[in-house]
Amino acid sequence: MTTTRASGGRDVRFACVEGDWSDGGFRYACPRCGGVVVVEAQPLAAEPPVDRSAPGVWRRAALLPRVTAHVSLGEGETPLLDGPDGVRLKVESANPTLSFKDRAMALAVSFALDGGYAGLVVASTGNAAASASAYAARAGLRCRVIVGSESNAAAKLRACRAYGAEVTEVTGDYSAAYAEALALEGEGWLNVSTTFRNPVPGEAYRGVAFELVEQLGRVPAVVCVPIGAGPLLRGIERGFADLQALRGGAVPRLIGVQAQAVSPIVRAWEASPEDPAIWRSTLGDAGARWHTTSATAIADALRGYERQGELTLEAIRATGGAAVAVDEEGIADATRRLRADGLWVEPSSAIALVAAEWEAERADGPVVAVLTGHGIKVPDAD
Ligand SMILES: [Zn+2]
Repeated sequence: MTTTRASGGRDVRFACVEGDWSDGGFRYACPRCGGVVVVEAQPLAAEPPVDRSAPGVWRRAALLPRVTAHVSLGEGETPLLDGPDGVRLKVESANPTLSFKDRAMALAVSFALDGGYAGLVVASTGNAAASASAYAARAGLRCRVIVGSESNAAAKLRACRAYGAEVTEVTGDYSAAYAEALALEGEGWLNVSTTFRNPVPGEAYRGVAFELVEQLGRVPAVVCVPIGAGPLLRGIERGFADLQALRGGAVPRLIGVQAQAVSPIVRAWEASPEDPAIWRSTLGDAGARWHTTSATAIADALRGYERQGELTLEAIRATGGAAVAVDEEGIADATRRLRADGLWVEPSSAIALVAAEWEAERADGPVVAVLTGHGIKVPDAD
């Protein structure tokens, strides 16, 4: 167990997104209506300091909910590189377990230590599981990983076992694993599945917005983000909202990118870019039948937690952005082109480049593609 203790951070309270409950304490769901619980963070009173002597996400602890345990493996502060067609690449695959989830898990595990939890339970397509396993080991906590057989995550599970996690495979897709994780939460086990089930981990993604502005020297015009349920996109949106409140100016358009084969959020967006009632009915369409995709890390049908997708749609709408789908050919081509350029990322990451290239044709400022995870953890597609 390697943990430092520190202070700093934001006061937060927990509230139902439907507005009918805000007692403040941590909950997975609204005790009144069962709705999604979100973190309401105290506005930043001043520019958040950057402590270069602190590890990982704790360099910008002022952005995060106040916790005293600061667990880190050196996550965050990832490179921003030049990519094809003038697109800038935010290389989240450079994180300690090779995906953006490390930001969330540094915070989630610290929150678990503060709360006296004995362990973590996580439903995952693989990246969150590998990350949770590593951070649990770092914090001296147990970790239970639930993965759906359709996620094709053998290499990622090997990493989990190497870190000492208990791995359970269930038949089916991510939504099946999610249901299993729900049954295990409580009694000392913190559910850190990186949907919106636990509102804490996604707060760590606010830092991506601050890093981008620092690296570019300005606010980007567009940021393209691969999305399953979409906490990464919403966390980035929250970060840019923080920046706008502090400094004024515009926020970038956020583009949520899904594989055409599994695209519940894109379908809801296409049904209506602004009407939450239409989002709800479209997301809740139990008749949706999805296909297989190479973008396994973002293949989330949202089955059983459809309303979580509304948070991502709302974040997209708030920025004047869009939700777009990319077909398998486009995903494979972008994966190959990035590899040929020295960047081995998974198809679920390369998909952001496709959307960014579309945007770059008309944007009047920097366009960023967030490369969420490394390619070494996925089976070869070709
Ligand atoms: Zn409620």
